[in-house]
Amino acid sequence: MERTDTNGNKYKDMPKLQYVSVTLCTCERPQTTVFCRTCSNLFPGRARIRCPQHPKIIHLMDHNTCPSCFSSKLKEIV
Ligand SMILES: [Zn+2]
Ligand SMILES: [Zn+2]
Repeated sequence: MERTDTNGNKYKDMPKLQYVSVTLCTCERPQTTVFCRTCSNLFPGRARIRCPQHPKIIHLMDHNTCPSCFSSKLKEIV
């Protein structure tokens, strides 16, 4: 069963998480610029953040490490 929240985001029905505010979901945030705190590299995309609502969902397109130095100390710049 699929639900659609007020932002139009579709997600699988998870009864235990129904009470969590939809504003906490980080799955659908836009692409941004990621800053590496180790080598100061800047690159487009998103840093991998565990969604408070969907902690089991892994976003494979998001950056877990810096493509230049492979540090995991990444920070999104809004
Ligand atoms: Zn989410
Ligand atoms: Zn780096």
